[in-house]
Amino acid sequence: MRKVVIVGGVAGGMSTATRLRRLDSEAEIIVLEKSGHVSYANCGLPYFIGGVIDDKDSLLLQTPKSLYERFRLDVRVRNEVIDIDRTKKELLVQDHLTQESYTITYDTLVLSTGAKPVIPSIEGVELAFTLRNIEDVERMVSALEKKPESAVIIGGGFIGLELAENLVNQGIKVSIVESASQVLAPLDAEMASLVEEELQKNDVKLYLQSNVQSIRTGSVLLENGEVLPSTLTILAIGVRPDVTLAERAGLGVGSKGGLVVNRFNLTTDPNIYAIGDLVEKVDELDDSATLVPLANIANRHGRIVADHIAGREIREVKTIGTAIVKVFDLVIATTGWNEKRLKRSSIDYLSIHSHPNSHAGYYPDAKQMSIKLLFSDKTGEIYGAQAVGSEGVDKRIDVLATAIRGGITAPELADLELAYAPPFGSAKDPVNMLGYMAENVLNGTEKIAHWDQIDEMVYRGYKIVDVRSQNEFETGSLPGAVNIPVDELRTRHPELRTKKVLVTCQVGQRGHTAAMYLNALGYDAFNLDGGYLLWSKSPANGRKERKEIAHV
Ligand code: FAD
Repeated sequence: MRKVVIVGGVAGGMSTATRLRRLDSEAEIIVLEKSGHVSYANCGLPYFIGGVIDDKDSLLLQTPKSLYERFRLDVRVRNEVIDIDRTKKELLVQDHLTQESYTITYDTLVLSTGAKPVIPSIEGVELAFTLRNIEDVERMVSALEKKPESAVIIGGGFIGLELAENLVNQGIKVSIVESASQVLAPLDAEMASLVEEELQKNDVKLYLQSNVQSIRTGSVLLENGEVLPSTLTILAIGVRPDVTLAERAGLGVGSKGGLVVNRFNLTTDPNIYAIGDLVEKVDELDDSATLVPLANIANRHGRIVADHIAGREIREVKTIGTAIVKVFDLVIATTGWNEKRLKRSSIDYLSIHSHPNSHAGYYPDAKQMSIKLLFSDKTGEIYGAQAVGSEGVDKRIDVLATAIRGGITAPELADLELAYAPPFGSAKDPVNMLGYMAENVLNGTEKIAHWDQIDEMVYRGYKIVDVRSQNEFETGSLPGAVNIPVDELRTRHPELRTKKVLVTCQVGQRGHTAAMYLNALGYDAFNLDGGYLLWSKSPANGRKERKEIAHV
């Protein structure tokens, strides 16, 4: 009978254990977990803090007892593996319940020790809370019982923003300090601007490009000398693979700081597998090593390892890093690479933005969203997508993630037959529309310019023409734009007195019609991608204004 020991009993570890039991009813399977709980929903922790999930037990998906009853798993909580003796195939375990240590042998070892929060060396850092497990939540909840008035969250990533929303909902004044120039690093700046606007709408003070110098009782001192009141300070600047145990055992660590594994998730020791947040993954787009500390891939790794241990054929799992987060009324989702990463890797690409409705505009309560698509300027291969909105964002990003995985090109998105009735979508779904737009741009039917190219276009002599109605134009437009509504263009285009034109409208749709018409007349016309809406929210227009708001 084979003896499999799994270290870490949450997402990856427990997926391995339960799958393996289904495949092998005889194996001895032991799960060692250093915290007091296994199989808990750490993704739900921020919502327990905010009271959205009010019963802690609902986060505890299984207990050692239930796992024994259903799967005959030997699950030991508060049992920490201190050392791995690879020669003897033996673990040294500290039982924190009995305060005793013991050794245990294995035939096969699976490491799923996850990732731990990054703790910077800032004065007073021990005063800050982090959020990784149920014990962290319990500490934070008892701090919340003292009714803190203010909180500073250091880090504007996924967990930081989820916490911000949940603390604001409890009446706490929240500030976010972020060293980068934007929140949510997987987004590009113009998409992150939409999220920053939402945070400020909900009275979250944003301190971008700001660093914390020290954390004190009741306040946080920034490097620029500003003091932010903070009864509750939370560190959420990211996580890094928890390689402590594996590294001590001499297992190979890669350039990204995660354990190196092969396509079967085997480490440099053929008797030891490693999975989840602990390991480096293979990027689907360029096969490079990458870290994606997300639950989906940890669970898939768990299944692969169980299958491999059971002698089954497996498919290699690469990653595109699909993620989603809710920030107040906004839903933000991403998949694949962003523009920043494409630029860093010197990969040529095209990008388009659209602002479609979640479902047919004539059916009540349609919600507008913003989608960005990045794809190869030669083959149309989809590199990545980002969406910010509310209803329907998840569906579109999931379709786009599936398209990337399936090798569907950007123009081929037009051909996808997606479910449609007015309450759910449009006959031309937002994903189809991206396909139409991509095809037009890729084959040269349409020339587009981006929100960050406007100054350059003007410098090169392009005249900006806003083709919205006069009423829309009067509520605000690009600096220097003239207004000729699209329906008047046929008679009024001679007023332009130049052949070089940059057309803009609200979202890019009327601009497309206008630019196509002008080009047919012999103009050199570009359409502003994403229109006035994108420009007005982008750093080109709004960032300075919002930073000032944060400091009043
Ligand atoms: P984990 O699930 O972290 O499990 C590792 C376990 O190993 C821990 O319980 C730890 O105590 C144990 N361990 C470590 N060292 C030892 C040792 N020496 N001996 C014994 N036990 C040990 N992902 C998403 O996709 N979507 C989300 O919305 C999302 N939200 C999140 C919110 C929060 C607050 C957190 C913390 C994470 C969130 N994640 C989310 C990430 C997701 O939870 C992880 O990617 C996933 O849990 C990783 O699984 P894992 O098995 O690699 O590690």
